[in-house]
Amino acid sequence: MELTEKADIKYTNQRIEILAFLRKHDGHPTVDEVYDGVRKKLTRISKATVYKNLKFLTEKGLLEEVNVKGVSRFETNFIPHHHLICRECRKMEDFNSEQLLDYSMKIAEEIEGFTIVSTSTNFYGLCEKCRECKKET
Ligand SMILES: [Zn+2]
Ligand SMILES: [Zn+2]
Repeated sequence: MELTEKADIKYTNQRIEILAFLRKHDGHPTVDEVYDGVRKKLTRISKATVYKNLKFLTEKGLLEEVNVKGVSRFETNFIPHHHLICRECRKMEDFNSEQLLDYSMKIAEEIEGFTIVSTSTNFYGLCEKCRECKKET
């Protein structure tokens, strides 16, 4: 699904720029990162406005907010997937594993009193870049 194809939303310039940025950004940008990216085009936009728009788009179901160690990040990938999260720089990468999805959902079937619709597993560790940094010191 294209991110901009949703009918009942008024696409202001700001929202279009925010969505364009998110589409190019293949991570899970924070509000600050989105702000920095969008500011290049909309020089007068404030961080509060960016935040408000991100919240709005999340409410409308175009984005998903994920919280990593107290920091809000915005997810644009709606296909079920897992995450690799770096403990140093807090980078969050998508990790796809059909096998793990199947396995988790099989376990989910056995959970009583709770209907599971999706699953996502977080793996914590060190990204390549941070691992290299550690080696040098
Ligand atoms: Zn890292
Ligand atoms: Zn993701």
